[in-house]
Amino acid sequence: MKIEVQLTGSPLAESYSPLSTVGAHGAFVEFRGIIRGEERGQPVAALEYETYAEMALREIRRLLESIAERHPCLGVRVVHRTGAVPVGEAAVYIGVVSLHRAEAIALLGEFLDRLKQSVPIWKRRMVPVAGTVPSKTAISAPKPRAGACSLDGALAEIRSRCQPLPAVPAPLAEAFGRVLRETVCAPEDMPPFDRSARDGYAILSTDAAGHFQVVDTLDAADWRPRSLQPGQAVRVATGSALPCGGLRVVMQEHVEREGSRIRVLEHEHASNIRLRGEDMQAGQPLVQAGARLNAGALALLGAAGCVQPLVSPRPRVAHFTTGDELVSPQQTPKPGQIRDSNSTLIRGLLQNVPCDLEQNHLTEDFETAWRQLDPKRLAKVDLLLVSGGASVGAKDFSRPLLERLGFEIIFSQVNVRPGKPLIFGINGRRVAFGLPGNPLAHFVCFHFAVALALARLAGESGPVFLRAPLAAKLEDEPCPRETLWPAHLEWNSGAPRLHPMVWASSGDLSCLPAANTLIRVPANQAILEAGTEVDFLPAAGMVCP
Ligand code: AMP
Ligand code: MG
Repeated sequence: MKIEVQLTGSPLAESYSPLSTVGAHGAFVEFRGIIRGEERGQPVAALEYETYAEMALREIRRLLESIAERHPCLGVRVVHRTGAVPVGEAAVYIGVVSLHRAEAIALLGEFLDRLKQSVPIWKRRMVPVAGTVPSKTAISAPKPRAGACSLDGALAEIRSRCQPLPAVPAPLAEAFGRVLRETVCAPEDMPPFDRSARDGYAILSTDAAGHFQVVDTLDAADWRPRSLQPGQAVRVATGSALPCGGLRVVMQEHVEREGSRIRVLEHEHASNIRLRGEDMQAGQPLVQAGARLNAGALALLGAAGCVQPLVSPRPRVAHFTTGDELVSPQQTPKPGQIRDSNSTLIRGLLQNVPCDLEQNHLTEDFETAWRQLDPKRLAKVDLLLVSGGASVGAKDFSRPLLERLGFEIIFSQVNVRPGKPLIFGINGRRVAFGLPGNPLAHFVCFHFAVALALARLAGESGPVFLRAPLAAKLEDEPCPRETLWPAHLEWNSGAPRLHPMVWASSGDLSCLPAANTLIRVPANQAILEAGTEVDFLPAAGMVCP
């Protein structure tokens, strides 16, 4: 029997043609499962389906093959939609072709009966209709993910799936902090001609006489080639192009001048000349592709006349907060409300990253939030960050939102503390994260996940863990997850040392001002003694050891 199975995040097709099979078929039986407006007595706007694609595809195929042993058919096509499926739209399509209708109907019936029990596609939760009180419970308890992604696994996924954005030429004045995407070579020797390194007098390098006749005066911008005879000198300034080869420059401080004559008080060993090409030679690489352009690199490019280097573009970043309890920092929270701190945090963290940031707040109702968004505008966003709503709460809609925006969810949990409910999605070149709303978790996820994605989009490999000793004992309850522990790295007598910060929960904010690193504490490791060398991740703005 021919079998075709497909999982899709998009709406199902209007119609599917019968699967082409060998030989004539007498029956073509189709089924579409449509989302009703009600689930377990509650009005819903959509149902969200979650699956492990590889496993689901395998299990559907296996199930169909086993049923076909009893009800032999010619071919079956199954298309199952995942993510949020709005009311009125189909979640599943099944088309069976067979010689006679009886076996097609039998296969379809049995497949539908067993699909739910045998195949890992879950109705994860319902999306309530705007204005109704949503169910607090998920429709069927979300099955524990077959192990949340490990920290290393998450880093590997982000590293491999985030691809560099296409390079653009940028004027030097706008290129600071961007990644150079071409190796720039010196177009000419630097310096381009022999220049005096001093204010003084150029004489033949072999002339050790005591008195000289000054035959010309060259300022820094002058270009007057000529030859010199023994006993002749040319007055030069620092940077003057020397009139010929075979010279040295006597410093002005070592000379007494009387009219057009000079007396050399001291002949130095140094030639006081910057030779053509001594800094770099034509064709020599000046700045390599992949370098993040600092002031020095920009100065070098400018000196070489490379005024429009090919660099990484400024990614467009959108950061949306969710949570009806949030008010802006300017407002006085009413009972039950809190001030939004994540917007300020992200704005600050992105201060030194060349990017165009747009921030907004989304209402905590899926459909209303959806209407707030401008899909055309969002399609131009390179990195989408949704703050809060990344977990399994009744109102947490980050995942279905990202799915409806066409993102494939790569993982939705990471075995790390704080920051477990972290969603990572990809849509072509576009990247999305559903970040936990708790401020410390937001901070941690930014540093290990978002910073890595930004680096990859820019064309870098991303931050790496470094090692340094603990300045003090780190003691905690053992945790089955790895911990990214906020810490302060300081230089003590030239050596880096990590001070673990005090924090109690992922909702803490008080440790953030001093936190410039995250210590990687292994799972189940309760105590790390002072002096122990540990891995740590530099946080924004930290000077690396
Ligand atoms: P959530 O991730 O939406 O479940 O939120 C977890 C916790 O973080 C809740 O206590 C929220 O009130 C808090 N929270 C969410 N967003 C923010 C924000 N933008 N600023 C400060 N706290 C937040
Ligand atoms: Mg929330």
